Amino acid sequence: MPIQLDRRGFLKQSAALAAAWSLSSNLGAADASTRLALLSDTHIAADQNDTYRGFSPHANLQKVCNQVRAAPKFDLMVVNGDLARLNGQQQDYAAFVSYIDPLAETMPLVITLGNHDDRKNARNAVVKRAGELQAVEQKLVTVIDAGPCQFILLDSLMVTAISAGQLGKSQRTWLAGYLDEQSSGKPIVVFVHHNPDAESDGALVDADKLLAILKPKHAVKALLFGHTHVYSFDRQDGLHLVNLPAVGYNFADGNPVGWTEGTFSKQGMSITLHAIAGDTKNDGKTINLSWRA
Ligand SMILES: [Zn+2]
Repeated sequence: MPIQLDRRGFLKQSAALAAAWSLSSNLGAADASTRLALLSDTHIAADQNDTYRGFSPHANLQKVCNQVRAAPKFDLMVVNGDLARLNGQQQDYAAFVSYIDPLAETMPLVITLGNHDDRKNARNAVVKRAGELQAVEQKLVTVIDAGPCQFILLDSLMVTAISAGQLGKSQRTWLAGYLDEQSSGKPIVVFVHHNPDAESDGALVDADKLLAILKPKHAVKALLFGHTHVYSFDRQDGLHLVNLPAVGYNFADGNPVGWTEGTFSKQGMSITLHAIAGDTKNDGKTINLSWRA
């Protein structure tokens, strides 16, 4: 693995991987549903004995990967940012991919980056990524067409180890233009690491601008994010806002730790919680969300 991949080389490699997946994987027919394994905030350190608030992110990710492997086959796996424990060291990602790569051999994988990730280290280490990489300056933006739905994965990493995130103007301009061009009629689901809370200093600083782009575009049905280590649902102008739970640990005892599986169709999505620690009372519970018109 070269230390530095030039941009051209990287793009070529991603395109080759994406092409391989489009040939070898079945992401589902347009009228069917597509099943996603949804992980967020794995927070893997180089040290496998690392713990936080009594949780072991390594043990948790191992358990989650085992559950994903044991479940009926997924069409796509998403890891929605904060792959690494604190500041995205190369060794953190080496540990992360030791869990994830075997799964990424069996299904397409896409990631977003969080505030505890390092963009270059993550991109160099997590090479088994599917989808089409978009030409957005300094950002890792991917789109993937998965049967009935179109998924967009944004990049809100602003400064590694600083809590707040930002999309930035060039990414917002790209997003608005991309949405303008979509005419397939497929529901669009957007992933980003940071919660779109403009009132919080530690969330997405350009949350209002993002929502102003997404809300009027009725093809966009849901925004899925992590960052807060809380599992919750909200809705603004019919746009679903889904906060995915963390794999690594929670920040408060009342929140589940684990992952979710999502089934996406033209009509809506259902999401089932797999709580492995923290508050597990809703483990196995499914919530159904229908898309706005
Ligand atoms: Zn996190």
